[in-house]
This record gives sequence, structure tokens and C-alpha cells, in this order.
Amino acid sequence: MFVTKIILVATLLLFIGDFLSTFLYHVPEHVFGKFHTLVHHSKNRSFIHYAVLTRNPLVLLDGFLGALPYFLFIPFGWQISPIGTIVGIVLGELHVIWRHVSIINWQTPKAIAFVCKIFCITTPERHLLHHEDGNLAYGDIFTFFHRPAIAWMDFLIAVKKKYRRLQLSSSNNRSQA
Ligand SMILES: [Zn+2]
Ligand SMILES: [Zn+2]
Repeated sequence: MFVTKIILVATLLLFIGDFLSTFLYHVPEHVFGKFHTLVHHSKNRSFIHYAVLTRNPLVLLDGFLGALPYFLFIPFGWQISPIGTIVGIVLGELHVIWRHVSIINWQTPKAIAFVCKIFCITTPERHLLHHEDGNLAYGDIFTFFHRPAIAWMDFLIAVKKKYRRLQLSSSNNRSQA
């Protein structure tokens, strides 16, 4: 029971954290913002530097906003299993570092890639695809968030276009009046 609780809470923390981070921050930021795209997807940036070593406050802020949903879960997880909560946070942080190692020509060993495939976990190779193209490979930790993330993105893009059209037509009306 003790171990089950640890595994359950750690998994829930990563699942809920990745879900909220993807749908409330990452995808909206790609549609409406410039900030994440600038820091996370800039061509010249070594992203191991981006993820782990940088002191640039903007980069830290992007990382912090992305990580916030994970921290929101702490008070709930703590009540069920403090160790599970800590394990979840540590695993999440290790995964951030790991998925950004591709810059040093990392190749995930076949056995690990296989385990990741079974549990739908994002490998560095997969995450690199997202850095190269903001339309690919959503789900920082879990790959199954990709499809709903793209659907959510299409929806937000449609909202954005509609809003722009409304703005345009109301400014046209005003200039005609
Ligand atoms: Zn990244
Ligand atoms: Zn992104």
C-alpha cells in the first residue's frame, strides 16, 4: 500500500502537471504568445543550456510558468504521500534535463526507448522534434497529450482568427461612421 501510494501520487503529479502545463500554458502560448516560442524554440539556443544552466530571467520565467502546474499539485499529493510527491517532482525535473540532452548527440538506448514507448513517455529525440517544429510532438512528458493538444491548438487558432475578424470589422465600421 505504501509503495502503491508513492507510485500513484508520483504518476498523478506528472500526469496532471503535464496536462495543465500543455493545455493551459504551452499550447496557448504557441497560439497567442511570443514568449515561449522565443525562448524555447529559438534556433541558436543550446537547449541544455536553456533548460538547466541559464540564469536569463526570461528563460527562467518560461520554465517557471511551465512548471507551475506541477507545483500546484503538491498540497494535494502531500496529504496522500509526501514521498510520492517528492519522487514526482524529482522525476519531473530529471525528465526536463533528460529530454534536453539531444544537443549532445544523445541516442536513447533501445531498451529505454522501448520502455518509453510502452508507457508513452517523451524521449529526447521526440522532444527535439518539438523544438524544431512547434506543430510536432506535444506532451513534454507524455506522448498521448499530442493529439488533444493539436485539437486544442486548432480551436484556439480559430478563436484567434474570429476575434481578429471581429476587431477588423468593428474598426471598419468605426471608420465608415
Ligand atoms: Zn524543450
Ligand atoms: Zn513549444
